[in-house]
Amino acid sequence: MIKYNKPLPNPSLESKPFWQYCKQHELRMQKCTQCGHIRSPGSGICPQCSSTDSEWVKLTGKGKVYTFSIVHYVYNKAFADDVPYAVASIELDHGVRMLSNIIGCKMEDITVDMPVEVVFEDITEEYTLPKFRPIT
Ligand SMILES: [Zn+2]
Repeated sequence: MIKYNKPLPNPSLESKPFWQYCKQHELRMQKCTQCGHIRSPGSGICPQCSSTDSEWVKLTGKGKVYTFSIVHYVYNKAFADDVPYAVASIELDHGVRMLSNIIGCKMEDITVDMPVEVVFEDITEEYTLPKFRPIT
């Protein structure tokens, strides 16, 4: 595995399972077992009904681009070889949104509402990043 020089995730107690499932190449999020609200990021208490009960449900990993930005400026030297790259808010099939990158296509081909699916990038022994690519 190539040495990874970019910032790594810094999981909280509530988000740690998310990253552990990513390592297994599964996109899971915390779902309230009382009202069904999907919490992203995970939290100890449901923001909708205040329940502390939850389970980590497997998502389809499919969704669409809600909005995006193409980054041309090098904010961090570790990303110098990556520009331009796309940062996007992905609206998953379950209605929840998450921030990620769009990969596997030309930057100019990315559009709002473009269907995408998750793809997992193993970056270190410990961490795997969920990214998204167009569904062709
Ligand atoms: Zn709830």
